[in-house]
Amino acid sequence: MKVVRTVRAMRRLASDIKREGRYIGFVPTMGALHEGHLSLIRTAGKNSDVVVCSIFVNPAQFGPAEDYRKYPRNPEEDLNACRRSGVNVLFIPSVSQMYSRDHCTYVVTERLTQVLCGPFRPGHFRGVTTVLMQFFNIIRPHQAYFGQKDYQQAVIVRQMVEDMHLDMQIIILPTVREPGGLAMSSRNAYLSPAERRAAPILYQALSKGREAIRDGESRAARIRSRIQAVVAKEPLVRLEYVEICDPETLQRLQGVRGKALLALAAWIGKTRLIDNLTVGLKSL
Ligand code: AMP
Repeated sequence: MKVVRTVRAMRRLASDIKREGRYIGFVPTMGALHEGHLSLIRTAGKNSDVVVCSIFVNPAQFGPAEDYRKYPRNPEEDLNACRRSGVNVLFIPSVSQMYSRDHCTYVVTERLTQVLCGPFRPGHFRGVTTVLMQFFNIIRPHQAYFGQKDYQQAVIVRQMVEDMHLDMQIIILPTVREPGGLAMSSRNAYLSPAERRAAPILYQALSKGREAIRDGESRAARIRSRIQAVVAKEPLVRLEYVEICDPETLQRLQGVRGKALLALAAWIGKTRLIDNLTVGLKSL
């Protein structure tokens, strides 16, 4: 596994790989790697000749009151996990490599960023699309891999790639969960033991919502109340939002006919977690 720390070296290496006609699969991450990340890396390994993984805690996607400084960082463990799971090139740029002092260009995807997490995290998706556009331009991968865990992010990135005519494919893979259903997340490391015991309620609540739809409930308001009622049983958890949306446009649904996205964000103590389930979608 090669470890690359500069934009120049990464660009040169990627262009050499592509000149040899080899296929690049790219997995962008913020590190503190867990099975969710590793499942993306392994699938990228099956579908491509060279797997490039990036680890970069992107300051542009954190709000001023958010957890940029204390975001979990495990460089040693991450290096080993990447090696073991088949990463060929690990790109770990510094902040100054990605954002020069005079950086002033941002990529903004509209509409899809104005719903769900958007209003609660102003500027977040602008930071995400900006850094991904940078990575895509440096690496020029054939495919990039994203998790359904961050559903809104994946849909936004797919739209950006289409709108900007980038010659690459976005692959979205299923959420990897702990045995009790909690979606794996680097931020789970923040949870106290009691909070950790409370957290699976989010998945249980979404599952209740999905069950209601499968049992014939189509009124979005009723489905949301079912989800809220389950979460309300857990005093350590405070819902920020729960929405029933169209899985493609992310617009709120009144009634569910066929497919739907059930998405929520919640606070457990000082930790903000997100999760979602889809109904009636064959693949993403
Ligand atoms: P992050 O390091 O949190 O920015 O995540 C990097 C990538 O891993 C994103 O595409 C996430 O959607 C994906 N990811 C994070 N958690 C999971 C999970 N539990 N299952 C599947 N993919 C995940």
